[in-house]
Amino acid sequence: MAAGDQALAFPLAELTFDGERGRIVDLPAGCGERLAQLPVVLRLLLENAVRCMRGAERGAAVSALLGWLERGTSDAEIAFQPGRVLMHDTTSTPALVDIAAMRDALAEAGLDPGRLNPVVPVDVSVDHSLAVEAYGRPDAPALNLAREMARNRERYSFLRWASAALQGVRVHPPGTGIMHTINLEQLASVVTTEERDGATWFVPDMMIGTDSHTPMVNGIGVLGWGVGGLEAQTVMFGMPTMLRIPDVVGVHLSGALAPGVLATDLALTVTQRLRSLGVAGAFVEFFGPGVATLSAGERAVVANMAPEYGATTGFFPVDRRTLDYLRATGRSAAQLRRIEAYTQRVGLWFDPAARPRYTRTLSIDLAAIGLHIAGPRRPQDLLDHGEAAAALAVLDFRPTAQSASLPRHPVAIAAITSCTNTSDLGLLIAAGLVARRARRLGMRPPPWVKTSLAPGSPAAADYLARAGLIDDLSAVGFDIVGFGCTTCIGNPGPLPDVIRAAHAVGEIEPVAVLSGNRNFPGRVHPDMALGFLMSPPLVIAFALAGNAEIDLRREPVGRDKTGRAVHLRDLWPTRDEIDAHLALAADPADCRRAFEIAARNPAWHSLAAPAGARYPWDPASTILRRPPFASLTETSLLGRYAADPLLVVGDDVTTDHISPASAIPQDSLVADFLVEKGDDRTDLNVFASRRGNWEVMLRAAFHNRSLVNLLRPGVAVAHTVHAPSGDVVPIWEAAARYAAAGRAVVLVAGERYGTGSSRDWAAKGQRLLGIRAVLAASFERIHRSNLIGMGILPVRLCEGVGPVSLALQSGDRIEVDAGAETLSPRGVVPLRVLRADGRIEALQGHADVETRLELEMLRCGGVMPLILRRAAADSGLGDGRSPVTHDAGPA
Ligand code: SF4
Repeated sequence: MAAGDQALAFPLAELTFDGERGRIVDLPAGCGERLAQLPVVLRLLLENAVRCMRGAERGAAVSALLGWLERGTSDAEIAFQPGRVLMHDTTSTPALVDIAAMRDALAEAGLDPGRLNPVVPVDVSVDHSLAVEAYGRPDAPALNLAREMARNRERYSFLRWASAALQGVRVHPPGTGIMHTINLEQLASVVTTEERDGATWFVPDMMIGTDSHTPMVNGIGVLGWGVGGLEAQTVMFGMPTMLRIPDVVGVHLSGALAPGVLATDLALTVTQRLRSLGVAGAFVEFFGPGVATLSAGERAVVANMAPEYGATTGFFPVDRRTLDYLRATGRSAAQLRRIEAYTQRVGLWFDPAARPRYTRTLSIDLAAIGLHIAGPRRPQDLLDHGEAAAALAVLDFRPTAQSASLPRHPVAIAAITSCTNTSDLGLLIAAGLVARRARRLGMRPPPWVKTSLAPGSPAAADYLARAGLIDDLSAVGFDIVGFGCTTCIGNPGPLPDVIRAAHAVGEIEPVAVLSGNRNFPGRVHPDMALGFLMSPPLVIAFALAGNAEIDLRREPVGRDKTGRAVHLRDLWPTRDEIDAHLALAADPADCRRAFEIAARNPAWHSLAAPAGARYPWDPASTILRRPPFASLTETSLLGRYAADPLLVVGDDVTTDHISPASAIPQDSLVADFLVEKGDDRTDLNVFASRRGNWEVMLRAAFHNRSLVNLLRPGVAVAHTVHAPSGDVVPIWEAAARYAAAGRAVVLVAGERYGTGSSRDWAAKGQRLLGIRAVLAASFERIHRSNLIGMGILPVRLCEGVGPVSLALQSGDRIEVDAGAETLSPRGVVPLRVLRADGRIEALQGHADVETRLELEMLRCGGVMPLILRRAAADSGLGDGRSPVTHDAGPA
């Protein structure tokens, strides 16, 4: 039998668990001996293809997935149909604003707006807008939450409208925790049921999230990854997300972590090793006996940092440790039986002795890992925990004068923050134990250190209290400040006055220490360029030292109340101590109970929200504006044209550079615009809070001080040169002048364009600027897909060509030949550089377009016009599944 015929006949089976009967895709019967050779992530994609695809497409996908085994790689593309979507408030707001605008477009076309609803369950976590205003005091959570509610009233009222008006959209209020922790503790079912084609199916829980750290849930055997908001919209409306069958990098773990070495140390080591290997676009899967030595919480820390090591996933299959975690977080015994029985039956249960076929492998001996930090500018720059001083010395910062009270590199922010390292109970317990010893020794951080503890889960307060550690943390300044992203997303609140003053005159270069996952300049705070990532207990040690220029292996952290030097070894807990306190702290009822209490948030539930199928836009609003691109009349940007380069930028331009999330500077043109509209200059909030207002986000595009515009280096922030006039003007003004003159514009970039967060506004902003194509040496995966979602063609320049070799000058133009009829996935895009002096240089690019669906989007002008056309035709929304329901997590 040919492979394709075999695929069409892929066997199904019926199973009964605890009296519940359902259908399954019978992977062992369909794959035979090949199943053990397939990486588990590909087994999951195979299950999804067999269940969700039809006819010849299904046959082709199955053949391609099994055919992957021959070379360990494949060029074939398959459809992936995730079962649910997870979003946070800042990515969901624009997505839901788009849906509200699409409903308007349908209504204006004489169609029923209420027919446009997501067809898969959508969870929205309101976690990204909490800032650390109050800290170091027990009432900080209430104060910060009240401030958050007051600042975001209109946006939150809109979210409440969306949760009532849109079927299947469930919003988790502020205070309920960070999205990925909620996913681990509440939403992930690992194995679930689905009604499809009139039958009940047992299926693996697979999902996508509009956040790059969505792979955190890979730590408990749930396949999921981060996508852009636009890709999420395609999934929400029943279209698959398309992907090339990925290369799978297997990371073989052996040994066990040494006592005192923590999950963060492992995650930072994995990040450095995989970044060096180069795993961009690959799925990473962990295997080998070392996996079994890690708790599921520790695995989740490693999985979380998949975007930092450059991979799409960081997957750990299900085993006993997974079940232990699920039990500890309150999942029912029946659910655990279902997970165990299903994963064992279909070949998804982890076998530590198995050695599947991988594209490439890497081995890590857990026992060889020590205590680590990473930085001061990139997460992959791994250092021994004692090397902070040496890493800072290399920077050779020369103060204008010696500060009277501060070291040259003071620790200005010390934040136990981020889902990354606060979702694993062991890490918080370790931090609490360091705090306890410091407290007993009479130690406290110096006054210039802004300290905070923002756990991913409200349950943390309960278990830290039960372990008797909450008072110890408070005694060294690490009071809980709330349950949200805070410092990790660049919301640390204002810096201490003494730091601001000394920094302003160049006496110091302050440093952040945090248990987050990113430390790019400006990520943590717009005025801070240096940050070290580390485990929560090390955050406390650095906070106590107050000086980032320290070698913690040799130098004392500080002095006790008698003046005796205290070293890190005097503070560090033993593995037995951590384990004993873990046993003391654990209560499986915590997660559900704390979440339910937090979800009652009275300020949220008393917030007035409009009703009705259409959102009533307020014309005076500076928060929510109906966007122009969610329209049935959008047209394609493809074609053959000569374009002015609006901007030329170098390597590693992040989505933070393209569309910042941080505080809106009071002295910026964006601030001027908002003040003109009636806003208070002293309370403009962060850019991320304005993602519902396209007029602000247009002006915010490329508003980042560290971005260098190679067309005219040294121009003011968010300015460029308008070639015809030679004027240096704000980028949006140059774009408007080009558009008024009927001139096309493109953007030219270096390697890894769009790295960083999955920020769809980075693509939307470029669409509003009229950019028809981005020509780059390479693209980061999610941003590439977001550009296409906005109808912008990503063109990959050929090897060796980039912004530096092109040396574009103002007045040079680029001819792009990308007609809607001639363009094909990965096809050649002829380019010509038309120099201002009359010279013409021909070169080639390739369309960075992977699939036919992406091509269709480009031909329609983006994903929204495509959804609208399908909705208007009443076709293509839905995929054989029954109407949307949430089957896991809180009611
Ligand atoms: S990685 Fe940071 S910003 Fe992203 S969800 Fe986690 S805490 Fe929030």
